[in-house]
Amino acid sequence: MLGPVLLAAARSDSIRRVVSAAPVTRPVVDRFVAGERLDASMAAVRSLADRGMEVTLDHLGEDITDPAEALRNRDAYLQLTAALKDLGLGERAEMSVKLSAFGQALPGGHELALKNVTPVVEAAAEAGTTVTLDMEDHTTVDSTLAILGELRARFPQTGAVLQSYLFRTEDDCHALAGEGSRVRLVKGAYKEPATVAFQDKREVDKAYVRCLKILMAGEGYPMIGSHDPRMVAIGQELGRRFGRKPAEYEFQMLYGIREAEQERLVTEGHRMRVYIPYGTDWYGYFMRRLAERPANLAFFLRSLVTK
Ligand code: FAD
Repeated sequence: MLGPVLLAAARSDSIRRVVSAAPVTRPVVDRFVAGERLDASMAAVRSLADRGMEVTLDHLGEDITDPAEALRNRDAYLQLTAALKDLGLGERAEMSVKLSAFGQALPGGHELALKNVTPVVEAAAEAGTTVTLDMEDHTTVDSTLAILGELRARFPQTGAVLQSYLFRTEDDCHALAGEGSRVRLVKGAYKEPATVAFQDKREVDKAYVRCLKILMAGEGYPMIGSHDPRMVAIGQELGRRFGRKPAEYEFQMLYGIREAEQERLVTEGHRMRVYIPYGTDWYGYFMRRLAERPANLAFFLRSLVTK
């Protein structure tokens, strides 16, 4: 019940100010965010890579209000690309971007986001790595998939994210199941209306399995973005059923969530990529993590009373 309230709060500037200023918030945020600075995120990358994991880095920033912020976000990603090039991990360390951070929601946003994200995708290719376009709320899906198409024409390894809670996603999975396509399948983290998305968690789960079957049966590279033990087990089973070797798909989980399971999958010989968010603009990301799981919220509330 609290989930929708927290997702609405994730979009509220006044609640953002209160939560961000509370001193108790910081230690809880640190559980989900690798730090505010690039060097902290690189320390997390090294530590995870030493344990056999792959990573995708997200420089936090979304819902910007002016084009100058989009340029700052682009530049932060160019710095990140240079740092990843120095690390030399190739595609074992890739990047995730939210197009809203590149101006997608501003006037002329589609063209602006494409213009701002293109140099990052070019720099990533030059550095031997790649970019995955995160998916945001349903109003952005057409624009994000069109930008993906433009980028893939030059950089076919650019990845997409599809959300099983949207009615349209099975069709999108068919469209993106071709050779060379990299698709992260997630359940979806935004508050969406009943006109476009399943509201019942069981329906979202069933849709996830239908979508995963399409991707696993296809010619592309499926990326299973879920902490759900059932989805992980079904992913492994579908991998076997469709004759995929462990290198032909991967699991993805968020930084700080189900770390023992992340280790287990690596030990079993699977590719496991950890999504590492870093930066000062952590509020929206943090609130979505609280909304997802009562235990995350309880952890936050406990820290308020035990301080
Ligand atoms: P849920 O359906 O939330 O939970 C199912 C079960 O999983 C739980 O009952 C529990 O057994 C287990 N579980 C879940 N969370 C935990 C936990 N914290 N600790 C222990 N067990 C847990 N969403 C987007 O909308 N756009 C994106 O671009 C996007 N990118 C993502 C990238 C990655 C790598 C991941 C992992 C998620 C991403 N998401 C994105 C978020 C996603 O849409 C879901 O909101 C989120 O992953 C929660 O769904 P779930 O499948 O993990 O499990």
